[in-house]
Amino acid sequence: MSVLSFVKRSAGIACRTVTIQHRKSLNNIRLTSIRLFSSNGESFEYDLVVIGGGSGGLACAKEAVQFGKKVAVLDFVKPSPQGTKWGLGGTCVNVGCIPKKLMHQASLLGEAIHDSQAYGWEFENPQSVKNNWSKLVESVQNHIKSVNWVTRVDLRDKKVEYINGLGYFKDVHNVVAILKNKTERVLNAKHVVIAVGGRPRFPDIPGAIEHGISSDDIFSLDREPGKTLVVGAGYIGLECAGFLKGLGYDATILVRSIVLRGFDQQMAEVVKASMEEKGVHIKMGTKPKSIEKLEDGRLLVKYAFNDKPDEVITDTFNTVLFAIGRNALVEDLQLKSAGVEVIDGKIDVDRNSKTNVDNIYAVGDVLYKKPELTPVAINAGRIIARHLFNDSDEIMDYDDVATTVFSPLEYGCVGLSEEVATERYGADNIEVYHAYYKPTEFFVPQRSVRYCYLKAVALREGDQRVVGLHFIGPVAGEIIQGFAVALKSGLTMKVLKTTVGIHPTVAEEFTRLLITKRSGLDPTPATCCS
Ligand code: FAD
Ligand code: NDP
Repeated sequence: MSVLSFVKRSAGIACRTVTIQHRKSLNNIRLTSIRLFSSNGESFEYDLVVIGGGSGGLACAKEAVQFGKKVAVLDFVKPSPQGTKWGLGGTCVNVGCIPKKLMHQASLLGEAIHDSQAYGWEFENPQSVKNNWSKLVESVQNHIKSVNWVTRVDLRDKKVEYINGLGYFKDVHNVVAILKNKTERVLNAKHVVIAVGGRPRFPDIPGAIEHGISSDDIFSLDREPGKTLVVGAGYIGLECAGFLKGLGYDATILVRSIVLRGFDQQMAEVVKASMEEKGVHIKMGTKPKSIEKLEDGRLLVKYAFNDKPDEVITDTFNTVLFAIGRNALVEDLQLKSAGVEVIDGKIDVDRNSKTNVDNIYAVGDVLYKKPELTPVAINAGRIIARHLFNDSDEIMDYDDVATTVFSPLEYGCVGLSEEVATERYGADNIEVYHAYYKPTEFFVPQRSVRYCYLKAVALREGDQRVVGLHFIGPVAGEIIQGFAVALKSGLTMKVLKTTVGIHPTVAEEFTRLLITKRSGLDPTPATCCS
């Protein structure tokens, strides 16, 4: 194969002019030396440059090369205020979904070890069973490193050029990468995708940045977290406090307003109560005021209730973890140079994920008012590539995105909360079916079933189209994923009720929903199999 035909094939630019400045050998071809010419004669070094090598950016880049495009991905991680750094792959892989799920699993295993005794497992000294934090961190970090490595190999195999550099815009078609050695490299691109994600926010109180940590640090913490204060009651706050408690550490959450804003609030209250039952201390209506480091290394935290701001409460902790939301990483991008507009620190896009600038797209957590979830970023990233390079008119569907809070008793949901459905359709036009249930496997170890609860929110008319499903219990994520497909396919209560369940599972509870809230009947079952 000639050098030219190789380049044409691998860059997929058969119908365009290709100039090669260096024709040394096949192995020595540097993609940067090839210029691509568009039909109107404009020439670009790359078809696509993606800024940000996380869930959305990598998905977009890998999809784009399938269409034979020449693609580069820039990824750069600035250390956290505590100095934590990580490799390629973005938040989810390094400091998000993956380490979180592993620590959640570690915590669930602790519960399983406890339960196993009732099932006949014997331990010489059950009281001595404890989690070894440094071993857990080592296992989690080893897994992450293997994913980092596989990601690099995958990019190389797929011929996506990976550049470990911090990107910023020189203008609409030129992105500059600041490389590790502080040199700059300009990448000229026909299209640019912004996929820079976000990083944890810290509150503006004394000692927060100096002594606090965030989700960026917890999964690689080189010491036991010990007694931990978590500030914030969104996904991250509840999940971290939940697994820390499950691993044997004292955990307290400061909640300034409500738990799980944006979620169905009845379900949020059940999640909160189930966490309290497991021993997590939850302080409602509170805000931290300051953190000081004591001589013995512990952290002295001052906080107050919102309605009594002058009555300062003090407590000491080994760790303070802030989980108060995340800022999109737009500052370094020099967006003004390309004319990309920012709203409330985020980037707005049209239905094709295009920003206000014609050749610049954005995806993932950097987006204004879109769910900050990995599968959302991945799907949208792939759709951008297909739109740009395969004439696809598919658009990203941000409705009815299923999600799960991996609290000790998980909460999975898809569709509308009861309050949003009520607001949208009117209380008289919706029917809410609900039930408490008893997972069979909870009986033997006498685990609490008090908070195993689910509900379906449906329209009242006709076959009762289901607009929201909510489930609290074991493996909620696995359960809701399947029901999300049904809901997106137009699930009705009629269909749900005629679906035969799989017994004994917890998922079958959705097929057994008969009691409406409106009826006022008791939604607690007498036995497991009635
Ligand atoms: P990211 O994955 O954050 O990737 C952006 C990348 O771009 C980063 O590597 C960043 O360093 C880099 N970058 C930034 N600026 C530049 C620049 N100027 N130049 C070059 N590179 C740059 N989602 C779920 O769906 N399920 C979960 O269970 C879940 N758990 C989570 C748990 C935690 C603790 C956290 C923090 C998040 C969790 N998420 C979860 C959310 C999920 O991680 C994000 O939605 C997802 O990673 C967003 O992908 P992204 O591509 O937008 O950004
Ligand atoms: P969230 O926005 O979900 O929650 C932030 C929490 O911090 C809220 O309880 C908020 O309270 C509180 N808060 C905000 N500012 C302050 C402050 N100054 N002082 C005290 N409390 C404050 O952010 P997270 O950091 O938990 O998560 C970020 C995103 O990451 C999520 O939206 C989610 O999309 C994604 N994620 C997904 C997960 C999953 O899929 N399982 C897991 C983890 C993260 P208030 O309600 O009053 O504003």
